[in-house]
Amino acid sequence: RLITLEGGEGTGKSTLQHAIAERLVALGGEVITTREPGGTPLAEAVRQLALHPPEGESWSAMAEALLMNAARSDHLDKLIRPALQNGKWVICDRFADSTRVYQSVKGGVAENILRNMEASVLAGTIPGLTLVLDAPLETTSGRRAQRGGEKDSFETRNDDFHHAVRQAFITLARSEPERCVLIDASRDIDSVFDAAWTAISKRFAL
Ligand code: C5P
Repeated sequence: RLITLEGGEGTGKSTLQHAIAERLVALGGEVITTREPGGTPLAEAVRQLALHPPEGESWSAMAEALLMNAARSDHLDKLIRPALQNGKWVICDRFADSTRVYQSVKGGVAENILRNMEASVLAGTIPGLTLVLDAPLETTSGRRAQRGGEKDSFETRNDDFHHAVRQAFITLARSEPERCVLIDASRDIDSVFDAAWTAISKRFAL
């Protein structure tokens, strides 16, 4: 009952998250919506530190991967696993696949090290379904430009970076077809929701 939403910035993960939660609640489910990095007080503090380091400072790729995993470990222990054990749905905006993609696109940490960290931290809490939202850069750059908030960490990144992130998510989704469903997120929200809901109802036999 753990559903994760993945994809590049501006692909509409949080809008979809709320639509899915609403539908599951309407069907009588108890739903927790959360995000990564973050989701618990400590993990949110790590998010702040990871995404907004002090002026003039930056994290190495290894340190960033460790921070993301430290935040995830706390999130799993204090929020995700207890909720799942209580029969709740957990819908998470970004999860381990974002670490696979972002930390490997940024380079500097060997793939097998990232995989080992992930396996240790997840310890078997693997998403039942991962929806990977995919849209061309022309669509997402408009959405990225429109929204305020946490922009400073990625505003300076160029199209090559966003392109690499997009390709990495596509490759990842195709490499695990039993867990991941790739969704064309360039369409309107109703169509994206329909595609997501088809995947959810099939996966969880709703
Ligand atoms: O889209 P969202 O608000 O979740 O993105 C937060 C930021 O964190 C993004 O800039 C994303 O690139 C970054 N991030 C990252 N590594 C992760 C997860 C998110 O660099 N593992």
